Amino acid sequence: MSRIAYVAGQYLPHSQASVHIEDRGYQFADGVYEVVAVSGGRRIDDDLHFERLERSLGALDIPMPMSRRALAVVMDQVLRLNRVRDGIIYLQVTRGQAPRDHAWSGPSSPVLTVTARRQSPPDEALASQGVAVITLKDQRWKRNDIKSVNLLANIMAKYKARAEGAYEAWLIDDDDLITEGTSTTAWIVSSDGQLITRPLDEAILGGVTRAALIHIARAAGMEVEERPFSRTEALAAREAFLTSTSAYVLAIVSIDGQKIGDGTPGPVTLNLLDRYRRHVSGNDFSG
Ligand code: PLP
Repeated sequence: MSRIAYVAGQYLPHSQASVHIEDRGYQFADGVYEVVAVSGGRRIDDDLHFERLERSLGALDIPMPMSRRALAVVMDQVLRLNRVRDGIIYLQVTRGQAPRDHAWSGPSSPVLTVTARRQSPPDEALASQGVAVITLKDQRWKRNDIKSVNLLANIMAKYKARAEGAYEAWLIDDDDLITEGTSTTAWIVSSDGQLITRPLDEAILGGVTRAALIHIARAAGMEVEERPFSRTEALAAREAFLTSTSAYVLAIVSIDGQKIGDGTPGPVTLNLLDRYRRHVSGNDFSG
């Protein structure tokens, strides 16, 4: 079965789905995106994704291509046409097409594309083994709160991590603090048992999974401290883990080759994974 994409008003097989050669997303990475998880046919935390999409577009002065309600209809249609019940939706909005020039003028006609694909939730083996991360200098721009399609620094760091046999790279800012992973949010459980993640600022993307998990953890009576932490603190942590729409909650068992805790996924991480899975499957009435 050929996959079907939504492209600027039409549902087309991928082989025929295309955008204009002078789309500003293609020429300048002048656009933003979202990845929404789908479980049992349900879009997970879509209000949080819509909010973030509107924030990213607002920061770039690109209008929403359509209302939230219309966007939800398009997303559901793409899911249906591709027979996806468990997987992800990829949604991208660019400023649209114009003769190539850094400056733009006049009202933008944003171009929306939506695709979907089947994807299993993170593998049980990976979740129970945990993964390795390396640390690298954060070489991205200074507005990582915008979910821009310009991911060059992210993909280069991810490439380096994978080449070194690690799952992810944690990025370090000029003050030696961890910002986040290349496509995931960074968390630790400190040596005194505090659950810690960096506060929202322009250095990181406000993860939807991060927001959901903070809510879930607090509802379960756990304290979450939103404060920056350093590589040194991470290496001394009891536990470390990462979160994202596709990875859920994934234990980190080594950083730069040094074991975290006893080198196996810790109880806090596994507890949060369990609670997050229940949230995704719709069986968590607190989150
Ligand atoms: N940080 C970065 C840089 C990301 O690209 C992503 C996801 O793509 C995340 C964090 C996690 O965000 P979310 O939980 O919304 O998937």
